[in-house]
Amino acid sequence: MRINISCPQCAQAAGGFAVFHLEEIREDGLYTGKCPQGHDLLVATQTLRHEMLFEIALNAIVDGYRREAISSFAAAIERFYEFAIGVLARNRGVSSTISAAAWKTVAAQSERQLGAFTFLYTVSFGEVPRLLSDRMVKLRNDVTHRGLLPDQKQVLDFGAAAYEVIQTGVRKLRAACIDDVNAALGEHVEEIAEKMGSVYPRAFQVTPTALNVIQDISTGYPAFKDVVARYGIPA
Ligand SMILES: [Zn+2]
Repeated sequence: MRINISCPQCAQAAGGFAVFHLEEIREDGLYTGKCPQGHDLLVATQTLRHEMLFEIALNAIVDGYRREAISSFAAAIERFYEFAIGVLARNRGVSSTISAAAWKTVAAQSERQLGAFTFLYTVSFGEVPRLLSDRMVKLRNDVTHRGLLPDQKQVLDFGAAAYEVIQTGVRKLRAACIDDVNAALGEHVEEIAEKMGSVYPRAFQVTPTALNVIQDISTGYPAFKDVVARYGIPA
């Protein structure tokens, strides 16, 4: 995924203003390399997996890879379910060790994860979560398993559906258990920090992404058509 990286040394030289340059980030959310001025950089983003996959999907649309966009949107939904399950388990006082042990039994099969998410959410909130419609599930399966080449409208429809599933879920989690959302995010950042080791200079940054669990969306969130417009994708 390409994101904007800011170099702390350049920012300091510019009087504290972040200086961004576009870089390809590693799959684990880390970036190592040099800024255009040659400073060594180790930058971690706190972007969650589902947020990164959603970003990859948007970039795929920009680059004209529609099948890849749909499969990345679909993967983003699945990883959001995983995040939500972790938050809801945490909310019940279940330790991450026990959660991880339970996750092992569903890890290999996304249908099991969907089932776990659906019922955990329903039991927690007394309502059925927003999920992909049958039409969208069929589109995803046709793309994934039958080699369907989707047109632009299908990709945008699927992206909009994925966006709604995740954003309505995030809004609910933030409203009902913000402390657990923050704790899950904190744990994610800690895991990344561990991978960074003691290498310096290092920096954490919040990357501007279409989805971001730290955003307060209690009073609403941008429409998907406005999100894609920001990426230069004609709606
Ligand atoms: Zn620099």
